[in-house]
Amino acid sequence: MGFDQRRRSGEREGLKNRIAKRMTGRSTIVPGGAALFQRVYTRLGCEGRPPRFRVEFYPYSSLVLTIRRREEAVWVRLSDLLQRAPLDVLEGAAALLLARVYRRRAAASLTRPYLDYARSDRTRQRINYMRRRRIPPGAAGPQGRHFDLQKLFESLNARYFDGKLQRPHIGWSNRSWRRQFGCYDPGPNHILLNRRMDRPGVPQFAVEYVLFHEMLHVKHPTRRSGCSLVSHSREFREEEKRFAEFEHARRVLDRLAR
Ligand SMILES: [Zn+2]
Repeated sequence: MGFDQRRRSGEREGLKNRIAKRMTGRSTIVPGGAALFQRVYTRLGCEGRPPRFRVEFYPYSSLVLTIRRREEAVWVRLSDLLQRAPLDVLEGAAALLLARVYRRRAAASLTRPYLDYARSDRTRQRINYMRRRRIPPGAAGPQGRHFDLQKLFESLNARYFDGKLQRPHIGWSNRSWRRQFGCYDPGPNHILLNRRMDRPGVPQFAVEYVLFHEMLHVKHPTRRSGCSLVSHSREFREEEKRFAEFEHARRVLDRLAR
């Protein structure tokens, strides 16, 4: 989901794998999770033998649910905010996820417990609390030597989003990256910008453009389109062009990437 300096897919995969590895270390298996998903799979009327499910809790700072098929298995990740949720809430979450992937209609009675739980004041309070507490790994704060990302975020938010974009964690990467200028990770809800850009020779509009790009990822969550994930949808690309110095910023970044 990052802004790539180079668009060669191999390099991109490498980074994704490294991120995936880091994430695995922070998750825990949901006891009984695989059986629960198999049960709901059957209740939804999905045909054939259920796949092997691997269900884990992950320290998301919102109620994020993710699912992906990998070879024979289906990997599911639930926010660990659901760790103490009642069984019918987890079943509701499973129904929502499976209905999406297998294109089934989940009965409202099945999904309602999860939706009620997600909307409850208590859950919202816990989410806000977690957002404040969790500092993502590998990140420094938004105040760099030359650019304050917090300030840039506020002004971009006012200029391009009517001040309405919900603020994610924002920070500079601890180390310089070779391959990306920025990335948005929806799990921890976190925008990171490559520390390499935090120096005087880099024009502010180039840093703003990368931040703007990642902010668009916050606004347009990755969605499923057929079998592939779309992070840079047509709407995304169109909206990206609204950035005032779009062409100029891209030329500067192309030069920086060399
Ligand atoms: Zn991107």
